[in-house]
Amino acid sequence: MNTMRLFEWLAVHIRAIRIAMVPILIAMVCGVYSLVYITGGIKFVYSHSMYLPIMLAGFVFGMRGGLVVGLIGGIVLGPFMPIDVSTGEQQAMLNWLYRTGFFMLVGFSCGGASDSVRSYLRHLKWIARHDLATQLPNRSALLDALAELPKVKSNANLHVLVVVSLQNAMELKSAFGFDVIEEVIRQSAARYTNILQDKVQVYRIDPEQLGILIKNRDAQTINLLLADLVRGARQPYQFNAIPIHADSRLGYATFGKVIQSPEFYLQRAESALISADEDALDCVAYSPETSNFAKENLSILGNLMSAIKEGQLSLHYQPKICIRTGEVHSVEALMRWNHPERGNIPPAIFIPRAEQSTLINLITEFALEQAMKQIVLWRQQGIHLPIAVNISPRNLLQPGFSDLVLSLLQRYDVSGQSLELEVTEGALMTDIARTIVELSRLAEAKITISIDDFGTGYSSLQYLHQLPISLIKIDQSFVRRLPDDKGAVHIVEAAVTLAHKMGMQTIAEGVEEQSAYRLLSDLGCDIAQGYMISRPLPAAEFEKWHAQYQAENLSLPA
Ligand code: C2E
Ligand code: CA
Ligand code: CA
Repeated sequence: MNTMRLFEWLAVHIRAIRIAMVPILIAMVCGVYSLVYITGGIKFVYSHSMYLPIMLAGFVFGMRGGLVVGLIGGIVLGPFMPIDVSTGEQQAMLNWLYRTGFFMLVGFSCGGASDSVRSYLRHLKWIARHDLATQLPNRSALLDALAELPKVKSNANLHVLVVVSLQNAMELKSAFGFDVIEEVIRQSAARYTNILQDKVQVYRIDPEQLGILIKNRDAQTINLLLADLVRGARQPYQFNAIPIHADSRLGYATFGKVIQSPEFYLQRAESALISADEDALDCVAYSPETSNFAKENLSILGNLMSAIKEGQLSLHYQPKICIRTGEVHSVEALMRWNHPERGNIPPAIFIPRAEQSTLINLITEFALEQAMKQIVLWRQQGIHLPIAVNISPRNLLQPGFSDLVLSLLQRYDVSGQSLELEVTEGALMTDIARTIVELSRLAEAKITISIDDFGTGYSSLQYLHQLPISLIKIDQSFVRRLPDDKGAVHIVEAAVTLAHKMGMQTIAEGVEEQSAYRLLSDLGCDIAQGYMISRPLPAAEFEKWHAQYQAENLSLPA
């Protein structure tokens, strides 16, 4: 490592070293010449010390330097230098030529070795600063470029650091294989370079991220360039002659001068990217709020593991009512995090963050296990209600997910009929072949599979038919617009008809108003869930609600 550092230092300062070496080499050659002369001439051993300046010249100046100093060495110890100073005996021409040739050979060899080491080091340095697959400069090259920006602001212009990220990389990889990412990164780098033209470098800072440094532009130009970049990002890419859509998001930070470490600016652009991702926006600028938000979210994620262990997570239960009979059909388990300092953290904050990491597997496992324990407890109390657990897209891609669910059923001695899994449309479409296999195994064990948030994703009806789904949950965004919004009415009506034609039932979620409930009943919707019936409640409170509901034999107006 230290030798590498020394070589690196030498490579950086080579010009100064070469300049300094010129007088040193002249002095050395003259010194050796004088030494040989003073000690009596060529026949004395000191003539060998001429190798020293030759080798040094080869090392510092390379092959050509070694040859030149070898030749000079040969000349100075040549015909003007006698074999014996005291007798004045001169050396033979052949001897002199031979020595000169040998000196040049030494210079040539040392220089050649030094040149190879230098070119190898240059290559290593290139590798350290580039992405080999795309040949684009990498993250450390970007940090170096940031470090080289001026420390003082000379005009009103700004620098912009943009980070572009491929959001649907996992989906693309599972559909087209790993090569697709390299290809999309290559094409997008070429596209952005083309858009930005003069001297804007694009860097690959992560396997699925590009960094773009736009230097010294006025605010108006920056806005136009960013708009062009966003437009460029939306264009499809070609992979094996197939047009594919890569879902790109942009986060950027603007600054006038570089007074902090280069990482500081990159972190700002990346925290803007996190906000773009969370709010599903194409392009977001850094602001202190986005940074706090990102920091908060990251610290949340850091605490999540211990939250599970320390029992800060729990499930709340929200009933689903069978519209025709008014009976409680089942309950949905919704995760709650009771943080000791921050109070209740809603699932909308921590679930999407957990979904981006493998932590979601722990969460789902926890939810499944809690639900099983609750089913057993309620069974002992005479409450026989299936519990629906929410499943994230990542869970279905996790190898052995169905095994996990089936083994939990076995461990708690719970029948599949007591468990429902709510899966979003996106989850179903990510890897359809695998999803079919996993869900079929679960459905064979009589577990109910329902599609959550139906109408918000882009499920293919053809695939819906192939999946073992028994329930469709119509998304709250439609239900909340009932009964006045005609468009929403038509969508709900169509979903109910479609579900029934395919032998499935429908649940309307987010039912808040009696009027909506009545219309849902008229439209033939099977099940309703929402604040109008009950909010999600902790187990003990749900038991009270359930007892009261049963006692009053409250049948909701149909
Ligand atoms: P979701 O699965 O669509 O759950 C329905 C959400 O709507 C719940 O929000 C519920 O409290 C809320 N809700 C129910 N009825 C009404 C209503 O009448 N009006 C309104 N405005 N809202 C209603 P919550 O509990 O905040 O959960 C949000 C999302 O977090 C869930 O959406 C689900 O996607 C996710 N989530 C919750 N628990 C889990 C879990 O254990 N695992 C996973 N993977 N996701 C979970
Ligand atoms: Ca749900
Ligand atoms: Ca939902």
